[in-house]
Amino acid sequence: MEINCICEYGKNIPEEQKTCPHCGVDLTPLHNLKALPRFYYEEGIKLARQRLWSIAIDKFKIAISLDPRLIEAYLALGNVYLQNGYCDHAIAEYEKALKFEPDNEDIKEAKMRAEKLGTSREPKAQLKETATKPPESKKQKKFGFVEKLSKSASKSRK
Ligand SMILES: [Zn+2]
Repeated sequence: MEINCICEYGKNIPEEQKTCPHCGVDLTPLHNLKALPRFYYEEGIKLARQRLWSIAIDKFKIAISLDPRLIEAYLALGNVYLQNGYCDHAIAEYEKALKFEPDNEDIKEAKMRAEKLGTSREPKAQLKETATKPPESKKQKKFGFVEKLSKSASKSRK
């Protein structure tokens, strides 16, 4: 990934270049900073593969807060929400990404899929139910992260 030096003369400096050719400053911290959002995004992907939904969501959110234009992170976050039945949340994330890239076919497709699922499953009622009541044992596996969310919510209320 390329960076611009804080001296404003060194521009588009590649990762291999550790010092600025103009002012000679050590660029390692800037390179690390630039790589951070993607690092969190990739962590999130790994966690989502292990179905550790709530931690994956946290990582994607950090990635987005560090780089609000990291389209992949919105898509991944939306997909995790969708996988857990949160169609509305998923659509909201896809819409944020579409603001930056309105013609991104992957995101448009994902949003359409979420909307279809949303209308067939009536997620709003389902969401309220799972958020206030602990899920039954059968659902526990699928909605494990919902349970965690509601637990942490009740903790913070105290
Ligand atoms: Zn410089």
